[in-house]
Amino acid sequence: MEPAERMLREIDQLRDSLVELTQELIRIPTLNPPGANYLQICEFLRRRLLQSGFEVELMRAVGAPADSDRYPRYNLLARRKGALPGDCVHFNSHTDVVQVGEGWTVDPFAGQVRGERLFGRGACDMKGGLAASIIAVEAFTACCPNFAGAIEVSATADEESGGFGGVAWLAERGWFSPQRVQHVIIPEPLNKDRICLGHRGVWWAEIETKGRIAHGSMPFLGDCAVRHMGAVIAEMEQSLFPALAQTRTGMPVVPPEAKQPSLNINSIHGGEPEQDCDFSGFPAPCVPDRCRMIVDRRFVAEESLAEVRSELSDLLQRVKESRPGMGVELRELFSVLPVLTEKDAPVVRSVGKAIRSVFDKAPDYVVSPGTYDQKHIDRIGRLKNCIAYGPGRIDLAHQPDEWIGIGDMLDSAKVMALTLVDLLKPG
Ligand SMILES: [Zn+2]
Repeated sequence: MEPAERMLREIDQLRDSLVELTQELIRIPTLNPPGANYLQICEFLRRRLLQSGFEVELMRAVGAPADSDRYPRYNLLARRKGALPGDCVHFNSHTDVVQVGEGWTVDPFAGQVRGERLFGRGACDMKGGLAASIIAVEAFTACCPNFAGAIEVSATADEESGGFGGVAWLAERGWFSPQRVQHVIIPEPLNKDRICLGHRGVWWAEIETKGRIAHGSMPFLGDCAVRHMGAVIAEMEQSLFPALAQTRTGMPVVPPEAKQPSLNINSIHGGEPEQDCDFSGFPAPCVPDRCRMIVDRRFVAEESLAEVRSELSDLLQRVKESRPGMGVELRELFSVLPVLTEKDAPVVRSVGKAIRSVFDKAPDYVVSPGTYDQKHIDRIGRLKNCIAYGPGRIDLAHQPDEWIGIGDMLDSAKVMALTLVDLLKPG
């Protein structure tokens, strides 16, 4: 029997071990915020990966946002060298999970199995993907111990809150430089037969309109900042939203509704601050002199960041000119450019080949509507040969009764292991 064939059989035998590993990961509640139990999950993974022949380093992201003695941002990086020189293939997974929320019918941190499904917060996003990648590298190294190159597995913090204490921190310290890592696979839940090439861009900004405070019984003596903001929203409805709806990207974004750029009004606040819910008094009569709005603009490869910025600043200028006395400021909070790995990049070709051989079909190529840690590997690490590929359905992420299919994890582990055979074959 061919070693690759033996390896795939071996993965089928590892079903129970894969389920157990995923359950153990789910049972460590790595909730973010606040960023709990990162050290515990890294210690657990260190034991596992040392046993599998990896050298393991634990690194605390000292100085990163939210890192504290109470909630330290720990990251794990494991490396196993082959018998010959060659490329390094890196699997990166985030260890954090989002809050539980309402509506669960199972214990979110028990890792319960019902039939083909394994339940728990983080089951699909993305402890199932992490477990599948570990099983894949273990099966590969057992069957092909004389491989060329190196394999890395990292388990990183804070992806759900921007990745600054995780992949960004590691990338800034050179861990994702193209000299030491050549191929990166992020096992986010994008479906076992799809390759995610990247994501749309993001631009967050705060708009503040300004007026003048006065007694609420004589609004003519003041200038209402909330009405100015109302005019801003009216202008968005008039010109901006229809323009966004007209734009279509060539990026293969899923779901298809996300093939156009979008703008979400994230929050809006004007006038007197809201009181605590136990406050039973009445508000004081005032004309609001300040109103603030946070907008979340998602943009596509066909748009530049400069265009996205000027589209909104021009709109504000138009509104301001039509309203005497109105003050307005626009502050940028942060931006991430769209990321798109080439379809003929080596890691895309290899994973595509593996998908063809496991499922007997061509892979689908997709782009994610929201960002994930690929942005840091691309921008800070300057490593372009990076994709997201992993088991699970993205629409189950962050939902109650989150689950992952056990067979899907096994299938994905096979794709990952075959990718290693392709990229790290000796000679
Ligand atoms: Zn995720």
